[in-house]
Amino acid sequence: MTLHRYIVALGSNQRHPRHGNPSAILWAALHEVGRRKCRIDAVSPTIRSRPIGPSQRVYCNGAALVSTDLEPRALLDELQAVETLFGRRRQGQRWRSRTLDLDIVMWSGGCWADENLMIPHPEFRKRDFVLGPAARIASDWRDPITGLTVQQLHRRLAKGLTRSSPPPR
Ligand code: ATP
Ligand code: MG
Ligand code: MG
Repeated sequence: MTLHRYIVALGSNQRHPRHGNPSAILWAALHEVGRRKCRIDAVSPTIRSRPIGPSQRVYCNGAALVSTDLEPRALLDELQAVETLFGRRRQGQRWRSRTLDLDIVMWSGGCWADENLMIPHPEFRKRDFVLGPAARIASDWRDPITGLTVQQLHRRLAKGLTRSSPPPR
């Protein structure tokens, strides 16, 4: 039995009738993940971020380090089951407003690609709301595609964001 390690990104931008606001949802979701053959080794502080895509509500984002003997596809199944438990409906638009999004950012096994799952997550290098929290708990993890650490990717993105932001008025 091999123990794998994963960085999981968490996001929410809707209240849940029982769990409350997005931050509380992320904590409750982690608790639920921890009951499904997964051990939660570290959790980042949560941040607030602006939505991408059609949704207008502010997001709460975070990241967690997870140890488990589940292979990537089996972990994705568990994460999607937790999303569903928290009221996520998968049909319809991508990036629509949702109570819970759990994405696999990286894992200790390097690259993975099949028709349903891609690790590293294809967008994570562009997302401050993923790299910021991930850098708090896994700064020295190395992206197998670029060879850069999470911290280096985060710094690189932060510099890019600074350069491309409009001048102050
Ligand atoms: P994004 O992937 O851009 O963050 P999203 O998280 O809103 O968008 P979802 O609707 O949660 O997208 O997932 C769409 C599909 O993405 C899932 O059904 C899953 O099969 C696939 N997927 C591919 N790679 C990953 C990954 N690394 N983590 C989670 N889902 C993934
Ligand atoms: Mg996502
Ligand atoms: Mg997702």
